[in-house]
Parts: sequence; C-alpha cells; structure tokens
Amino acid sequence: MSKKYSAEIICVGTELLLGDILNTNTRFLSKELASIGINVYHQSVVGDNYERLADSVRLALSRADIIITSGGLGPTYDDITKETVCEIMGSELVMDEEVKNTIVGFFQRMGRKMTDNNFKQALVPVDGVALHNENGTAPGIMINKNNKLVFMLPGPPRELEALYKAKVYPVLSSLDSGNILFSKNINIFGMGESAVEDALKNIMKTSLNPTVAPYAKDGEVLLRVTASAPDKASAESLADKAISDIASVVGDCIYGIDGESLQNVLVKRFSEKGLTISTAESCTGGLVSKRITEIPGSSSIFGCGICSYSNETKMNVLGVKKETLESFGAVSAQTAEEMAAGVQSLSGSDVSVAITGIAGPDGGTDEKPVGLVYISARYKDKVLTERFVFGRSKNEREYIRFLASSWALAMALKITDSFSPAFHE
Ligand code: ATP
Ligand code: MG
Repeated sequence: MSKKYSAEIICVGTELLLGDILNTNTRFLSKELASIGINVYHQSVVGDNYERLADSVRLALSRADIIITSGGLGPTYDDITKETVCEIMGSELVMDEEVKNTIVGFFQRMGRKMTDNNFKQALVPVDGVALHNENGTAPGIMINKNNKLVFMLPGPPRELEALYKAKVYPVLSSLDSGNILFSKNINIFGMGESAVEDALKNIMKTSLNPTVAPYAKDGEVLLRVTASAPDKASAESLADKAISDIASVVGDCIYGIDGESLQNVLVKRFSEKGLTISTAESCTGGLVSKRITEIPGSSSIFGCGICSYSNETKMNVLGVKKETLESFGAVSAQTAEEMAAGVQSLSGSDVSVAITGIAGPDGGTDEKPVGLVYISARYKDKVLTERFVFGRSKNEREYIRFLASSWALAMALKITDSFSPAFHE
C-alpha cells in the first residue's frame, strides 16, 4: 500500500515579510512537490525570530510528514533556522569535520578570509545528515526522525534549487513505498510556456500518471514527465508513452529528452555526425562560442569564433562587402549572411552561424528597433536566415543577447536536420 505524504514549507526571513524579496522558493518547492504527488497543505513565512519560528516549526511537525525550510542557514547571528529546528526536534548539534574542511577549502579557493562565525555552518545534528551545497558554504540538513522528514535548505534560490534537485528530490521521489517514481525531462525551444500549456492542455490536465509539469527558464520550456509504477521498466514505459503523445503535438520544438541545454545537444549531435561549426558574432559578443565551448568535448567540433563588432572587422576579417554595409546596414539579413559565409571560408567548418543585431538600450530606430536581430546559419551551401525582434524583459540587453545566442544554436541544429523548431516567438 502506498501512502500519500503531506509536506509543509516554511520560509524564514524578515525580508520576505517586508516584501523586499519575492518568495520564489515556495513556488519552486510547491511545484516540485506537486510533480511527485506530495500534497502541500500549508506554506508559511516567518521572520528571523526564535519564538515565532519555533511556533511555526512545532505547528508544521504536528500536521505534516515532511517539512522543508528555506533560509537562515548562513553564518550570521540572525541565521537561526538550524538551531531552532534542532532544539525542537531534540537533535544535538556537533561540529562535522568533513563539512568544516569543505568550508575552509571553499574560502581558500576563493582567496577570502574566513571569520569564526563561518564554523557555525559546519554544525550538523548528530542524528541528521549534511547535504553538500555545490554553490555556497552553508550545507543543507536532513533529519529523519519520529516519522518526520525534515529538510533545511539555504535561502539563495540558486543554492536551494540545485540542492533540492541533487539531494532532496532523490529521497522524496523514492518515498512512495509501493511504487517507484521515474522522471524524464523534455527540452522545448521555440515555443513559450503558455503556448506549450495551451497546446498540451488535454494531456496535462487529464494525465495523473505520469504527471506533466512545465518549467519555463531562459526562453525555454522544460516539461518534466513523472511516472509512478511498481518497477522502473513499467514507470519508464508509462513516461515514454506520454512523451510520444506530447511529441505528436509539439514535436517540432523538442530538441532533446534529458538534453540539459541547446549547447549540450549541439555538441553531442555534431560529434555524432562528425560536423564542425564556427561563429561570427556581433551583438552577442562571443556568447554563442562561449556556450558551445563550455561543453566538454567541444574542441573536436568547434573551429573558431569571431567577435566582429566594428564594420572594419566585418569587412577585413569576414569579407563582408562595403556595399552591403552601405546599402543594408550592419544589422541586416545580407550582412548576417556574408558574416556566416566569411567565417565558414575562414575556418573551413561545415557549419557556421552569424548574428548581428541591436541589443540596446540605445541605438534603436523605428525601422530598426532595439531587439532586432538577424541570424544566419550555413551548412555547406545551404543558407537559413531569420529576422527576430526580441525583448520585453527587465534586463533587456542581457535577455536579447541570450535569446539571440539560443536561436543561433537552434538554427545550427535546424540546418543540420537535428531539430526543427517553428520560427515564432
Ligand atoms: P546565506 O548563507 O546566503 O545567508 P541563508 O540560508 O542564511 O543563506 P537567507 O540569509 O535567509 O539564507 O537568505 C539569503 C538570500 O536568499 C536572501 O537575501 C534572498 O535574496 C534569498 N532568499 C531567501 N529566501 C528566499 C525565498 N523564500 N525566495 C527567494 N529568495 C530567497
Ligand atoms: Mg543568511
């Protein structure tokens, strides 16, 4: 018999109560827990205050099986989550030599001076486990005691999310005693989150096993498909069946299953096919080549990256014609195509991509607004050129540059028949 577990989330931090920061950790955790069938009946936010935090923790322990806290694990005097929770659970805190060494090592690597209060972060409950935090010094803590499973996670979202995925998810997803849970992620590019939800609403609403949960990030959508079954093979086949249903609707925009990122998939496909690529970038300043070369193994597929900002470089290095720049401008389909052709002949790579655009905040006109980007991809003699207008974000310049680099990677995959997204924003 499998049991239905309930969880409660407690976020600790006075700045949350003051409205200084948005409580994205609760949102993240709630979505995650829902996607693996754990009910969240209560969420709370409490300041950095011992009495009130203690009340919240006692209440949560009285009504939920699983408690996840966020924040207050740092080195300063107002970080009191671990001390408070451990006191209520009767778990003595002791110095953990391994965690201590990790923290000392972290400070040495960063070349930063370590103060005494940092050792507080190496205190771990005797009956608990430290969860190694790749992105910061404060480890998470897990205590499994008296039929309660408690996780304490650091407040910074980057740390909390990574730690959840690496350490909490594996524990929670194996709780369902009768069944095992199995997940696969579908990587979608070229379609916004609401368009994906709309296209898949029948599948997403009606499917309880597997569950299908969307996550939007950096212009991409990740669909996590989680199936529950008595054994891995049955769970996997349930997940695969749902994936093929989903692919029959949005297949054009799927670039990978558990693919991690566009650049990861690109390096893998190009290696398999024995293809090489080079880039010529104007408004992205080398971002495409950075994203490709951050993947191990990219040296066998990457020729060169030219960061050609000035018209002189476009002409002298890439061979863009003066007349092209004069008649159509640096931000034009024609310039993008000549940049792609130039870097292809310079490098001898099979594939090339070129980007030219206006990342802003200045430099836009009515005819050529901020966010206008031309991307051209070449594969041997085949040419694919697209015009985009990106934007509508707080940090517009970074967002435009990032989206342009993603589309360049997508177009390199498309022109080599590795992926065929529809070209719409
Ligand atoms: P640190 O070691 O960085 O102090 P911590 O575990 O003590 O980590 P807090 O001090 O509570 O965590 O929070 C650190 C930062 O993390 C906050 O300033 C805020 O930017 C972010 N943060 C904390 N809680 C949340 C939350 N619930 N949602 C989103 N961001 C949060
Ligand atoms: Mg703190």
